[in-house]
Amino acid sequence: MLSQLIYRSRALTDLSDVELERIVSTSQLNNKSLNVTGILLYADEYFMQVLEGPTREIEKLFARIQTDHRHTEVVLISVHPIHLRRFEQWSMQWVPASKYPGNELPKKAVPADLIATYLNFDDRTSRILRAFIQGRWRSAPTHTPPPWRAHDFPPYITHNLGTTAATPVPTSFAFQPIVETSTGKVVAFEALIRGPTGELAMDFLKGVSTEDVHRFDLESKAHAIQRASQLGIRSRLAVNLLPKSLTNAPEAVSFLIEQIRTYGIKPEQLIVELTEEEAIANPLLFQNMVRQLRASGIQIAIDDFGAGYAGLSLLAEFQPDILKIDKKIIQGVAANGPRQAIVRAIVEFCICLGIRVIAEGIENQEDWQWLESAGVHWFQGNLYAEPGLNQIPTINWPLPYKEFPTP
Ligand code: C2E
Ligand code: MN
Ligand code: MN
Repeated sequence: MLSQLIYRSRALTDLSDVELERIVSTSQLNNKSLNVTGILLYADEYFMQVLEGPTREIEKLFARIQTDHRHTEVVLISVHPIHLRRFEQWSMQWVPASKYPGNELPKKAVPADLIATYLNFDDRTSRILRAFIQGRWRSAPTHTPPPWRAHDFPPYITHNLGTTAATPVPTSFAFQPIVETSTGKVVAFEALIRGPTGELAMDFLKGVSTEDVHRFDLESKAHAIQRASQLGIRSRLAVNLLPKSLTNAPEAVSFLIEQIRTYGIKPEQLIVELTEEEAIANPLLFQNMVRQLRASGIQIAIDDFGAGYAGLSLLAEFQPDILKIDKKIIQGVAANGPRQAIVRAIVEFCICLGIRVIAEGIENQEDWQWLESAGVHWFQGNLYAEPGLNQIPTINWPLPYKEFPTP
């Protein structure tokens, strides 16, 4: 089977035509022996390469390319089976895209038959190449984050609060910080429900009977809020609710307001995170509840954006204060072209609409750095801290802070 793979990468320094020739002629020989053909574009330190050949050879070659020290920022943009080679006659040619900043590939640099037969086709391959020539995939990061240095975050009370007897089931909550790494601030803690002995949210919620789950979900927030107050959280507090936990209880909003008043949390501190995990059965009622939350000063977040539940239609209906990008989109973003394009688009429309973006599920430094250069400022994930059961976890910081801000 034949496959086509497209990636972009960045040279360590800007290369001269002579240096490029050298690189290309060695890889031409190698690719010929593997029966791999393709095209290489080069502009302003960035490469974009299309590789075509037997699937197994393409896979092996790309694995080697990823570990090649002569370039960095290797981002996979597209890979799929093909029935014909687009760049059949080319063992591996290169085109200096920077010299031709226009819309189309330069006629001089591409054999005439190729222009006619391939490059002006309106298909994905040529559209991706055109996007590269137009400057996409080769914008240098606008902001270079400081070097990573892990630090504990000391000033919280760290004693464990234990399980609370709640109705109808005892609960625990785990607290995970949301951090602004550029300033070293904890901007919020998310309260994640846990079973009495720490069972994960989904396993625990599955065990609650279907008639009870929405009432229980709402009522459990009293404990989340109480614990947050006992732990001395003075940043924002984010809690999760199923849409039905709001729409099934007419008094849901006043219940939440009563709880935060009791425990001394201001409405502006509270964030209600909503997903579309279950279909929103009554959209009008749902909107009404969201309006009530807003009217009382509580912030709304759309959770797991991009996971398949919380989608564009929800966002078209109402705009939250905060949008949390799902971890499935975030994880691996530093080396993944489709994820990068999606995140850039989300950041762009959130800027237009005044929505704060949170990236969740950050597990490694590369993804964090890429996201920070793409304009995301708030982060949540195991890289900084895993959720602390009934307590505030130790937080690792990327910055060498001497003075820690208070929570
Ligand atoms: P969520 O609201 O998206 O919460 C984030 C989940 O991602 C948490 O899982 C958290 O432990 C996990 N997580 C955080 N950082 C990382 C990371 O770096 N890598 C990975 N792989 N995972 C990370 P958890 O606690 O199991 O919760 C799962 C889901 O259960 C939550 O997803 C939320 O939708 C739901 N949930 C939690 N608490 C409640 C609640 O009180 N009510 C309702 N209705 N749902 C809740
Ligand atoms: Mn959440
Ligand atoms: Mn989430």
